[in-house]
Amino acid sequence: MPLARGKFKFTFQKQKFTVYNRRNFISKLGLGAALLPFYSPNAHSSPFQQKKLGVALVGLGNYSTNKLAPALQETKGCHLAGIVTGSAEKASRWKSQYNIPEKNIYDYRNFDDIAGNAQIDIVYVVLPNSMHHEYVIRAAKAGKHVICEKPMALSSKECQEMIDACKKSNVKLSIGYRCHFEPYNMEAMRVGQQKVFGKVKVVESSMGFKIGDPNQWRLKKSMAGGGAMMDVGIYAIQGARYVTGEEPVSVTAQEFKTDPVKFAEVDEMIFWQMEFPGGAVSTSTTSYASSFDRLYISADSGWLELQPAFGYGPQAGSSGKGVLDFPQVTEQALQMDDFAMCVQSNRESSVNGEEGLKDLKVIEAIYRAIGSGRKEKV
Ligand code: NAD
Repeated sequence: MPLARGKFKFTFQKQKFTVYNRRNFISKLGLGAALLPFYSPNAHSSPFQQKKLGVALVGLGNYSTNKLAPALQETKGCHLAGIVTGSAEKASRWKSQYNIPEKNIYDYRNFDDIAGNAQIDIVYVVLPNSMHHEYVIRAAKAGKHVICEKPMALSSKECQEMIDACKKSNVKLSIGYRCHFEPYNMEAMRVGQQKVFGKVKVVESSMGFKIGDPNQWRLKKSMAGGGAMMDVGIYAIQGARYVTGEEPVSVTAQEFKTDPVKFAEVDEMIFWQMEFPGGAVSTSTTSYASSFDRLYISADSGWLELQPAFGYGPQAGSSGKGVLDFPQVTEQALQMDDFAMCVQSNRESSVNGEEGLKDLKVIEAIYRAIGSGRKEKV
């Protein structure tokens, strides 16, 4: 079965207005030949010549349960081989649901024993943000390749330690930046980086949602590191960075709180602006109190907008030339298969630890700018 079969949307009514559609998508994006079968509903070949790599999910919360485990049923280069959980009830449920051998089930105390398990090649850390640093380093010490969820850690210092630990153990590290494998976002990267509409002048990127339960870890600074910015503002930073293909040199930022009780420990809403070395400027919003999910590029001779852009989709967008119509894919499956291919072919991930570190450096500059009220260097 080809990946994401049946998920390709052919919107024939839209097609006549479409400038970039599924048919010309692969050639326009210049995707690596190895990933082509993932995008073709009729393809039967696999770029993976070797055995499927075993993935162990660490932390069986919402994202593991609702997105990663289902995506691992579609992957071609890796499969769900193990779990790490503190809950006996979850262990038993996942064991029967996904046919996981007892010896591949760990808890947080015996996690390090995973070193001796040849069926686990990749450890995927899907824990609260404050635990990423510890578990990535423990996984690296166990000799396992690692995927770590965003934000990579609570600080750039922690990120650097995680990168160093993976290098020392000679294992690969990547961050769960699924949008890099999502066709609409890939088109935004192509348009921006290849200057399809000329030089990018302004990027508007925003991500926010209304957060519920006031007692969850996302609202505790010690566990989350920050609020909306660390959780979803990071997508807006990513968007501006991958559209321009550059690193911001400076930021200005403003914070607002409409509910100082609920958001006593973390940021509720931040507006920020970034200056890029090529002259582009970005303006972004993140919020835990209202919804945003948009990426807009204004370039010399044209524009492109994605909305929704960064969430779970279905993504949509248009440019000055018409409606965009790309396949809806399982981003997480493509992201994990890309990492499996990196491991098998000893290639560095395009969303490696350095990529996670760069975002934390920007986030730290944004928090500094809020504190100082001035422009801060990244
Ligand atoms: P969640 O709260 O649903 O799950 C967290 C899991 O960690 C739970 O199973 C919980 O039992 C476990 N855990 C272990 N020790 C814990 C402790 N001391 N305190 C609290 N929980 C503990 O969270 P989630 O939404 O699955 O998010 C997990 C990570 O994944 C976060 O870093 C988040 O930013 C990231 N995430 C990424 C995406 C994406 O699209 N890439 C989407 C959602 C979440």
